[in-house]
Amino acid sequence: MRRPYLNTPATLTSLLLGFATSCAPKPPEPTAPPTAPSASTPEAQTPPESGPFAKELAEVAKVRGLGAKHAVAGRRVSREEMMREVDAELEREVPPSVVTGLTAALVALRLAPSDFDYMSAVRSLMGEKLAGFYQPRTKTLFIAQDLPENEQIATLHHELVHALQDQHFDLGPRVAYREGAGDEQAALHALAEGEAMHVMVDLMLAPYGKSALDLSEEQLAAMEADQTVDVDVPPVLVRSLVSPYFDGQRFVQALRRRGGWGAVTKAWSAPPMSSEQLLHIAKYDAKEPPIQVTAAPPPSAEYRREFRDVMGEQGLRAVLQEWHSAPVGAALASGWGGDQLAVYDSAGKRAVAWLIVMDTEAFAGRLEKGLVPGLVPSAAPAADGSRCEESPRGPTALLRDGRRLVVAVLPDGSCTAARSWATAAVAAAPQ
Ligand SMILES: [Zn+2]
Repeated sequence: MRRPYLNTPATLTSLLLGFATSCAPKPPEPTAPPTAPSASTPEAQTPPESGPFAKELAEVAKVRGLGAKHAVAGRRVSREEMMREVDAELEREVPPSVVTGLTAALVALRLAPSDFDYMSAVRSLMGEKLAGFYQPRTKTLFIAQDLPENEQIATLHHELVHALQDQHFDLGPRVAYREGAGDEQAALHALAEGEAMHVMVDLMLAPYGKSALDLSEEQLAAMEADQTVDVDVPPVLVRSLVSPYFDGQRFVQALRRRGGWGAVTKAWSAPPMSSEQLLHIAKYDAKEPPIQVTAAPPPSAEYRREFRDVMGEQGLRAVLQEWHSAPVGAALASGWGGDQLAVYDSAGKRAVAWLIVMDTEAFAGRLEKGLVPGLVPSAAPAADGSRCEESPRGPTALLRDGRRLVVAVLPDGSCTAARSWATAAVAAAPQ
């Protein structure tokens, strides 16, 4: 399945690769000897018996307990042809301002080099990792024919789940680009990937009498840490690519453990509203809403806003993991309440402000400390506690007021101007 947009760091690439099987779908080798598959699989509606993948669609529908409404179109293609399809989809679906805005944000946040070419990095990643994808627009799936046979089958199962999701839950329109909806869509995306991974892994482990429910947190964490790439792209992109698969698997596992596939079906009618809810099922159960944060005002009258979006807890975590270990980054991000990243353009020069509101002042204080080493490593705090550092990328100011925090990066000028913008920006956020 494809998710046609780039938006948050946590979903930067998954928006593009989102409904693809793009991280290696290999569960750990089970040690138990193969046994007969369980006879207690849920009943499915009789699936359509036509189409190129009728047999596999029937298997997937049966394991998921969700009948196929109609056959799924698709084909095995060369990597080149698949990349052409993906390229065409990018052209069609991704607004140019999203690409330029995100590029500016990644550079300003020191997560990518200043000559960073976003689309070329995404294409490199896809060229290496893409195994298949489902295109909701044409309701067609593609499988890379250069994969070993067992991986082709696993990928096919995965993509067929996305086709079922599209048939039952109307996936396409729900993931179409909406300004500011990045985090909400990231949560939905993770639900989709988690479900597709679960069905795929269930089918892989069935001969061993096991299922995705048997994967321990240790195994999931090891698999996640094992997802590396050979291409030279900013690591935050790789984390963004991998996150929805693993965050989604944990969420779906929790749902299945307490309510079976029925709980997953229910989640499609009331999906997590944010990646915060996705990452903390107690917050999902409590329906803890994200704090609405509006974009910072522009730094001056000659700037116009080019891009804005919510990064979410998942996006914040992906950024923090640049400078901290995975668990420390996750812990620092865990008090996320709401945020808004905005990029402003003035004749090709871009200013970036990221406003974050944490749940409490204590969380915000820890986050501030966690951002210093990455964003303003050599800046001493001023009397008001703010920090600012001038660099070739422009002055970067980090300012906290209670539980509100802002990172403000100007393309040029002085720390005085950056601090003043940061002060105006933080004042505009909810207390
Ligand atoms: Zn997928």
